[in-house]
Amino acid sequence: MEFETLGIAEPILKALREAGYVEATPIQEKTIPLLLDGKDVVGIAQTGTGKTAAFGIPILQKLSEKSFKVRGPRALVLAPTRELAAQIVEEFKIFGKFLSPRDDPAGPNFNYLAVYGGVGIVPQIKALQRGVDVLVATPGRLVDLMGQGQVDLRSVEFLVLDEADRMLDMGFARDVGKVVKSVPENKQTLFFSATMSKEILELTDKFLRNPVKVEITPESTPVDKIEQCVFFVDRNNKEELLVSLIRDGKMDRVLVFASMKHKANKVAMILNKHGIDAAAIHGNKSQFQREKALKEFKCGAVSVLVATDIAARGIDVSGISHVINYDLPNEPENYVHRIGRTARAGAEGIAYSFCEAGDRNFLNQIERIIKRRIDVASHKWHSLAAKNAIGVEAKPSARKQGVGRGVGRDKKKSGGGRGRGRQGDRSKVVGGRTSGSRRVAMGRTRSRR
Ligand code: ADP
Ligand code: MG
Repeated sequence: MEFETLGIAEPILKALREAGYVEATPIQEKTIPLLLDGKDVVGIAQTGTGKTAAFGIPILQKLSEKSFKVRGPRALVLAPTRELAAQIVEEFKIFGKFLSPRDDPAGPNFNYLAVYGGVGIVPQIKALQRGVDVLVATPGRLVDLMGQGQVDLRSVEFLVLDEADRMLDMGFARDVGKVVKSVPENKQTLFFSATMSKEILELTDKFLRNPVKVEITPESTPVDKIEQCVFFVDRNNKEELLVSLIRDGKMDRVLVFASMKHKANKVAMILNKHGIDAAAIHGNKSQFQREKALKEFKCGAVSVLVATDIAARGIDVSGISHVINYDLPNEPENYVHRIGRTARAGAEGIAYSFCEAGDRNFLNQIERIIKRRIDVASHKWHSLAAKNAIGVEAKPSARKQGVGRGVGRDKKKSGGGRGRGRQGDRSKVVGGRTSGSRRVAMGRTRSRR
């Protein structure tokens, strides 16, 4: 549906046209009129479905309808990571480009600010003192600012909890609760999450007033549009496999996921050693380093970004051609989040996953939640041991668990030994790429068991 039919004001429509947005995505189509109508909304939709605009557009419109200046923010968005916070502000700026507060048509545009940890707090305090209309914050830093008495949330009219599931995963539940308690009762609350769970349901019951639930289960989910392949490989061959895939695959823009910070560094280093421009991005890097790496990736100066799950959350770079799971995520939902980085907003993408023996159970869990089998790539380093691992061998080794994989995980989740009986795996031959095509050449081979 076109944006013109959703009751959006002309200055925003103009900005949307300029940004190349023509058709509203399903979540936007459903959510925007509800928000304009003053409803609380719970939006459930996968990554890459355009949730930012779904809340950004109506909030800006309502702010501009009743324009006045207060020091504290009138809209507050909570987001799990700094990258995401910064990116949401950028989108607000785009949509609000032609808006000016109504009581002063020639006046300045709204003030937007992102606050997050890992950078100095003083500039953020100064910006808050100058006055902010839309504040986007990570929960931890916002609670710090509240504790120091540096942010006044009494004029909040709109509260958005973006990527609520991730905020819970990252342990922000308490901080989020504190923030919700500090904003006025009389406000509109919007709650977005890629997944629905018991915890999420409890939160929405607690925080929202008669919310309308908007759940988007597209016929063709983003995940279905992504070409997915698994490479069974022994751990000591993963580096060679990665180098060969990236070098011979002529991939333009690759996002590689590693399980841990030091591994992300190491993988980037190995790629660099092989003459492939790669940068690592993770929580141990300074904000400056992260922004630099992201900028270089965006402009194409580096073609490979190696990231950990948390750092990658919120990375929105269009034209990511491939996502490679160098390590499989130990949370199956993260698989969906990761591969959703490619194939954004309807484009097709390719996701490759390496699976070593100890990750075999993770693969089973992933296939269960995506409700499909992932095609098996045949390649030089194919490992039957990884493919057929069951029982103890299919779990991360104790040593690995000790450094963060699987620690404190719900035991019930590791569906033990279900890897058996995988008859009729489909296989793909990966290697020779047809020129000009992003698809891998396919040739069916019989499953080797
Ligand atoms: P989500 O928050 O659901 O993961 P985003 O809001 O980050 O998704 O949007 C994903 C990408 O799609 C962004 O690059 C955004 O600019 C783009 N996008 C969103 N809505 C539209 C639209 N209606 N038309 C074209 N592109 C869109
Ligand atoms: Mg989002």
